Amino acid sequence: MAKGTPELVTMEKLVSLCKRRGFIFQSSEIYGGISSTWDYGPLGVELKNNVKSAWWQSVVRERDDMVGLDSAILMNPEIWVVSGHVVTFADPLVDCRNCKQRFRADDIESDVCPECGGELTEARMFNLMFKTFMGPVEDDASQVYLRPETAQGIFVNFQNVLNSTRKKLPFGIAQIGKAFRNEITPGNFTFRTREFEQMEIEYFVKPGTDEEFFQHWVEERFDWYIEHGIKKDNLRLRPHDPDELAHYARACTDVEYLFPIGWSELEGVANRTDFDLARHAECSGQTLSYFDEQTKEHYLPYVIEPSAGADRATLAFLADAYDEELDEKGDLRVVLHFHPQLAPIKVAILPLSRKDTLIPLAKETIYADLRKDYMVQYDDAQSIGKRYRRQDEIGTPLCVTVDFNSLEDNQVTIRERDSQRQIRVPVEELKGCINAKLAGEPFEVLPPGGSYQLGF
Ligand code: ATP
Repeated sequence: MAKGTPELVTMEKLVSLCKRRGFIFQSSEIYGGISSTWDYGPLGVELKNNVKSAWWQSVVRERDDMVGLDSAILMNPEIWVVSGHVVTFADPLVDCRNCKQRFRADDIESDVCPECGGELTEARMFNLMFKTFMGPVEDDASQVYLRPETAQGIFVNFQNVLNSTRKKLPFGIAQIGKAFRNEITPGNFTFRTREFEQMEIEYFVKPGTDEEFFQHWVEERFDWYIEHGIKKDNLRLRPHDPDELAHYARACTDVEYLFPIGWSELEGVANRTDFDLARHAECSGQTLSYFDEQTKEHYLPYVIEPSAGADRATLAFLADAYDEELDEKGDLRVVLHFHPQLAPIKVAILPLSRKDTLIPLAKETIYADLRKDYMVQYDDAQSIGKRYRRQDEIGTPLCVTVDFNSLEDNQVTIRERDSQRQIRVPVEELKGCINAKLAGEPFEVLPPGGSYQLGF
């Protein structure tokens, strides 16, 4: 077992752990990769899916005032003219005349190249939308964009959702999906990529109530990260200055996380007023107003938009969960303290030995039964200590060990990742116990009538 000194999490450590254990791989790696593009491996896809379903659970399933949507990536290109993206979704770009590198002008502090000290060109605006062609003819008429945000798919479906669900204000529409931005300077692992997933809400409210709902969503979203395991000290809110606001926004507050690269945006909550619905109503010629039955008025709702990145959130959950500890023998233990809801594997089943006698209970009974309810891993390779370490390193909250006594007394040992405590429970009570522990019941608390034995 490696000795060592616990250190703070760095991006390099996360990249290396993610590759080693199958969370995130460089995309197209065997061909030398492609700039700042990443693939989620067997554990990464579980983790990111858990992040997305935890979000969906909180913002759609547990609320009466929210519904979901899954709109197409390719949309009528007129939408991006109307939304302002064709003209304004651009960053200032400068080139170094010497080393030919490109930078975002607002990222560099001096007027010489940060790489080689060379002379820089004048800044020019560079549109971040990816273009492609629809159909067999590659001309201007067939040009479409890969959506740079999921939000517009929600606005253009506002009437469809209203008519089909008969929702009353205030209500919101949530969507998870890919977005594409031809970022000038992507980087910092999955923090800024050119292809990423967003988790966006457009919450429609009566004008005049927008400030109150803006505050509500800022608090709601801040708390969501804490409820799912992010340490409060690593989160903060940053209201935008008026001169920072996007052309459509009346107010915006970022939820920032203390990433290994420093405080950076995790999610933005914006008050978009009626900008988008008004523009789409005007340019499509369709009525997008809401009829308020109480006041008998027609009006355009205002919109509060909490916009999060699924990849950035996954990176924050990984960074926040990462820990290095010294165990009682002075060995370094790397552990991911994931919230149980987010952990890719919930329970590992570890037979003490590979002997055939343990298989009927460990594999054919316990593993076969538990995998119907949870993501479970069966691991019988190497020593039990090594297997615990492997599970700690991928953030598995509970391990169940089946030993030779289990065949006599029909009891197994549950070991908890964070405290490394162990309890012995009858096989018939195992599922109830796992459910309780995954739901957050303290590990040491025994249920009434429980026949557990502590401190095994
Ligand atoms: P930034 O200032 O970091 O470029 P932004 O303010 O342009 O972000 P928004 O348009 O508000 O970002 O997008 C909402 C969320 O989508 C961000 O908070 C982030 O989580 C995610 N996101 C935006 N751009 C990227 C990207 N290039 N890579 C990964 N996630 C992104």
